[in-house]
Amino acid sequence: MTNIVDYLKTEINKLQSNCKHKWSITSPHDELRESLVPNIYLGKEGVYVPGNTKFVITCSECSLSGTRYYTDTCPKCFITLKADNILSSRENYKGDRFDKFGYFGVRVSRCPNNDFTVANDEFNQ
Ligand SMILES: [Zn+2]
Ligand SMILES: [Zn+2]
Repeated sequence: MTNIVDYLKTEINKLQSNCKHKWSITSPHDELRESLVPNIYLGKEGVYVPGNTKFVITCSECSLSGTRYYTDTCPKCFITLKADNILSSRENYKGDRFDKFGYFGVRVSRCPNNDFTVANDEFNQ
């Protein structure tokens, strides 16, 4: 025999998996920092994903929540960014910040829905 808590958990799971989700950001997070190119934000720096790239989204309909990173998720519409095929010169986006040996290039990822764009470092061999 199931108790009331198990019953409610099952009901909540059902509601959350059938929900169409209305996400909004529910964690405080730092201002996004722009790269040297206006309106393109700094993402991954070297091998590090900076702490301020993380945000929590919560659905107002079903209270489901999850952690996302704007290095791969749009912070406006919460869909996955599309990465460029080419690796660009890091110089143009970040100057020589954290990479005086030239180990990294920049891969730019864009939201397919709006203008959100981020420049992530990637090994350049
Ligand atoms: Zn939901
Ligand atoms: Zn978007």
